[in-house]
Amino acid sequence: MEYRRLGKSGLQLSALSLGSWLTFGQQISDKVADELMGIAYDAGVNFFDNAEGYAAGKSEEVMGKIIKAHGWERESYVVSSKVFFGTENKGPNRIGLSRKHVIEACHGALKRLQVDYLDLYFCHRPDKQTPIEETVWAMNTLLQQGKILYWGTSEWSASEIMEAIRVARQYNLIGPTMEQPQYNLIERNKLENEYLMLFKEYGMGTTIWSPLASGILSGKYTSGKAKDTRLDMKGLEWLKESALTEVKLAKVEKLQSYADELAIPMAKLSLGWCLKNPNVSSVILGASKTEQLKENLTTLEVLPLLTDEVMANIDRIMWTRPTL
Ligand code: NDP
Repeated sequence: MEYRRLGKSGLQLSALSLGSWLTFGQQISDKVADELMGIAYDAGVNFFDNAEGYAAGKSEEVMGKIIKAHGWERESYVVSSKVFFGTENKGPNRIGLSRKHVIEACHGALKRLQVDYLDLYFCHRPDKQTPIEETVWAMNTLLQQGKILYWGTSEWSASEIMEAIRVARQYNLIGPTMEQPQYNLIERNKLENEYLMLFKEYGMGTTIWSPLASGILSGKYTSGKAKDTRLDMKGLEWLKESALTEVKLAKVEKLQSYADELAIPMAKLSLGWCLKNPNVSSVILGASKTEQLKENLTTLEVLPLLTDEVMANIDRIMWTRPTL
């Protein structure tokens, strides 16, 4: 496994990490979740990603039980939670980024994950109703209390992140260390365009999500091999609709032919492509089956095959590179 610094911070994350969205406490059994975490940990994965909103808190409960059952040393792993969406929809103060919810959500996550502190704590979305100042102060209270070690954002705009940095500087507080954006061969703008100044000037780290665009970039939807997938899950019609568009599938089909030519499995090509970006600190993998995770965890071996020429050919096939 390769380890990368989370931006300019001192923390090192495995280049490949494991997340639990839609899987833990929802699509897969607790037994499969346990197997996935065991496989990942044994392969050197040291970062496990979670959020209060995943399966309404159940994902954190499942992960907490697994961590406890394995008895892994606390120093050997990094665990995250995210605040914003809440675990249940009961009243106005169980969501968002107010001081009240940021602090209560942290307490809830610590309990469900059965840990004394969260290594990473993300604001899962920007909260347009709460002053950024209030959120930055709340994060710093938690830092001072030792309940979180690093805080960051997810899917914030560059200007919102800049505002958080500005507020932190104004009051001598600690600003955001990392962002968690979507990044894959289809969605490239934030990482390759919008955030460039944040990387250069502030050394922001990134833990990127949906590296396979919910599985499409594994090629299984174009090869006819997709079965028992997340896109068949009830309630995820919105995801299916946005994921399986004609334009995307046509591009993926072309990419599949190129991957075949290179003799690189599509999932590994797509994941390896994400890792080639030096501003990516960790690629968060998702998996509903142990075979998927085992395959994805061997991605590092394809990196030497992704030469400049191959990367340029991929650009020409996908036509998703942002124009700067
Ligand atoms: P991906 O885009 O990589 O999708 C993972 C899914 O793709 C798997 O669950 C599986 O789905 C399928 N898959 C994975 N590997 C293979 C393979 N080798 N062959 C075929 N199919 C495969 O990542 P996720 O969307 O799951 O995101 C990863 C993590 O990022 C999440 O768990 C979460 O921690 C984080 N995240 C954060 C968000 C945020 O807003 N901050 C938003 C979304 C995710 P299937 O069941 O269909 O087979």
